[in-house]
Amino acid sequence: MIKLDFHPTGRHFLQIPGPSPVPDRILRAISYPTIDHRGPEFGALGLKVIAGMQKVFKTKHPVVIYPASGTGAWEAALVNTLSPGDHVLMFETGQFASLWNKLATRMGLKTEILSYQGSDAVLPQAAGWRQGVQADMILERLKQDTGHAIKAVCVVHNETSTGVTSDIAAVRKAMDAAKHPALLLVDTISGLGSADFRHDEWGIDVSISGSQKGLMLPPGISFNALSPKAIEASKTAKMPRAFWGWDEIIEMNKGGYWPYTSSTNLLYGLSEALDMFDEEGMDNVFARHQRWAAGVRAAVNAWGLPIQCADTSLYSPILTGVITPEGVDADEIRKLIQKRFDLSLGTGLGKLKGRMFRIGHLGDSNDLTLMATLAGVEMGLKLSGVKLAGSGVQAAMDYFSA
Ligand SMILES: *Cc1c(COP(=O)(O)O)cnc(C)c1O
Repeated sequence: MIKLDFHPTGRHFLQIPGPSPVPDRILRAISYPTIDHRGPEFGALGLKVIAGMQKVFKTKHPVVIYPASGTGAWEAALVNTLSPGDHVLMFETGQFASLWNKLATRMGLKTEILSYQGSDAVLPQAAGWRQGVQADMILERLKQDTGHAIKAVCVVHNETSTGVTSDIAAVRKAMDAAKHPALLLVDTISGLGSADFRHDEWGIDVSISGSQKGLMLPPGISFNALSPKAIEASKTAKMPRAFWGWDEIIEMNKGGYWPYTSSTNLLYGLSEALDMFDEEGMDNVFARHQRWAAGVRAAVNAWGLPIQCADTSLYSPILTGVITPEGVDADEIRKLIQKRFDLSLGTGLGKLKGRMFRIGHLGDSNDLTLMATLAGVEMGLKLSGVKLAGSGVQAAMDYFSA
């Protein structure tokens, strides 16, 4: 038996940028009885969630759903479209771009990683982790590749380790300007469902997403959205694949089924999330996250602390990274806040360890849960001896009540 005082009273504040707080409606849907994954009801559920996800990705083409975390869908995108030793071009925007690069290398692909070349006064050791994908660098690199050795360009849409949302349309434009035939693979594991995303319009070949961030579900399912060009590539791609193979899944999906047992209860949750998106309208969902992000940034600015995203046109609607003063361990602040106020914040990952923390503003949130979050952070900063320029809580109240 777990000790009953393991959890304090009231709701835990899960303010990490994924897993996000799951709306009660979705939790209730997940608790429906598990059904026969070959029966008629299941087929109807399968068809509904596939069609709903096509709407969310903004695509007319197949969406493949895996019973796996986002990492599985990363791997699926690579093994379905590429052959061993293929050259892929990636862009280092943060920890998740770096992890995808590591995964691709382990899969036997030849990866090349581009990174921002400018300097940064606040975090000189991680200048590129405050910026988005530099489409002009991709253009220059692809122009040099006259023999078309590069088979895929891989970029992260919403870099969850930093809070920078890259301009994917600009990457497509660069690839078109270079007249390069490489596939465009985009990780929107944390962006989809909370930040504007357009698979078809942006000319993406494989979009990759996961359940536990912008889509407000618990962890456990993930997605590949495909283009006709990606499906063509999969017919000649030689990377070994069985579980991840698109062909059998797409075939079985025609009836709303999968070749293997799906995560039935998570699909109930997905169905509920899709209903919620429909009821609110995706544009309203995106605007709501933009507004929350602006309120949180108002607080960070009032504290006088730098925001991790240095490009003001690329602020993430999903999370905000906060840089702590030099010599102050951001993880100690996070631990103190968790202990005192039962509030979880995201840690600084990789190069950012100890220098920043992340506030998630996604999932089942509202103005007041965010105000409570900011109050917890402000108290934690003060208790840790961080000198603040002013009250972020007051600035956010002013913003949210304006
Ligand atoms: C969370 C995340 C991943 C990894 O997904 P898992 O579900 O943890 O496997 C990859 N990329 C981005 C951008 C993420 O936010």
